[in-house]
Amino acid sequence: MNTNKEIKRVAIIGAGIAGLSCARKLQSHGITVDIFEKSRGPSGRMSTRRSEEWSADHGAQYFTARDPRFIQEVQGWVQAGTAAIWKPNIKVYEAGIWRESNSQEYRYVGTPNMNSPGKHLAKDLSIHYEATVCGLERIGDQWTLQCSELTEMRGAYDFVVIAIPAPQANALLKDLDARAADIASSAQMKACWTMMAHLPNQKSTDFDSAFINQEIISWICQNGSKPMRHGNIWTIHGNPTWSQNHVESSKEDAQDQMVKCMTSLGLNCQDAEISMHRWRYASGGLENSIGFFSLPDIGLGLCGDWLNGGRVEGAWLSGMELAAEIELIKTTS
Ligand SMILES: Cc1cc2nc3c(=O)[nH]c(=O)nc-3n(C[C@H](O)[C@H](O)[C@H](O)COP(=O)(O)OP(=O)(O)OC[C@H]3O[C@@H](n4cnc5c(N)ncnc54)[C@H](O)[C@@H]3O)c2cc1C
Repeated sequence: MNTNKEIKRVAIIGAGIAGLSCARKLQSHGITVDIFEKSRGPSGRMSTRRSEEWSADHGAQYFTARDPRFIQEVQGWVQAGTAAIWKPNIKVYEAGIWRESNSQEYRYVGTPNMNSPGKHLAKDLSIHYEATVCGLERIGDQWTLQCSELTEMRGAYDFVVIAIPAPQANALLKDLDARAADIASSAQMKACWTMMAHLPNQKSTDFDSAFINQEIISWICQNGSKPMRHGNIWTIHGNPTWSQNHVESSKEDAQDQMVKCMTSLGLNCQDAEISMHRWRYASGGLENSIGFFSLPDIGLGLCGDWLNGGRVEGAWLSGMELAAEIELIKTTS
């Protein structure tokens, strides 16, 4: 237990869905929370790429809700107009054969973009954007943070939550605490090459999205089939194993291979306008989920999808559960 001091101020590193859910719950219990986020906006991998002519969800494609707590949260997002059910016509491609998907699952998307629920959660939170935490120091029973973009250290915090992908967490933890570093370094995360493509010569297809099995790409989606989207942009994901094996390839090489695969599936990529994105840490995590990780003796916690089965729902729950644990530590200290 953190017996020295009450928990009044918490720093959270990362404004993805896990960091945001953790922050909201802590704040609702009267704890002062500051989030440090290296990007210019919230939401992390629930993200949307924008150019002057188009936009497309290029990280998470949709999310499901199975846990009653997350179902209730998503209902709130739907009521606030920040998420909606998406009912795509989904096909599956395997071994040269296309078939209808028989999945009956409810799929949700952020509206109007995948980063909208994150923006909704970020309201009324104190978030420092373009603040990449590169070091942590514990002086006495409080933490200070060093950000690459800021000259002065930020502190003093009674508890620090690290809500970032495992390899990035490990970089902060390896010289700090062996117990936390062991957890982070044992997680296996894989990359994802993402292609966003306008296919001017592709006639309309008889599917909105497709799971592709046993090929280098694993997912194709017509972004415009989602609620409140316009335009004709396809999002295509490389499969995790192929993406990881080609994580150091150039954008051009990855694009060439993915275009060849699309063409072999029957999609017309002639004169395609393409934008590529490499996610270094897209999916995966601990082999056995532990939900979150907390070290009350030094006031440190880890949350994120990689501790809780991956995906948006797992990330949100991980942040919530860590916040409940911090609240428990606070009331028993
Ligand atoms: C290509 C792709 C497809 C996906 N498809 C789906 C899907 O269809 N359905 C689904 O449920 N899930 C999907 N996911 C997974 C889903 O996006 C994640 O599970 C979820 O968004 C993870 O949230 P998080 O808060 O744990 O982490 P993140 O969203 O990664 O948030 C971490 C945040 O920390 C920030 N950060 C990192 N390091 C630092 C630092 N040192 N200092 C400050 N800030 C830092 C990052 O910028 C980021 O904003 C997909 C992910 C990808 C990449």
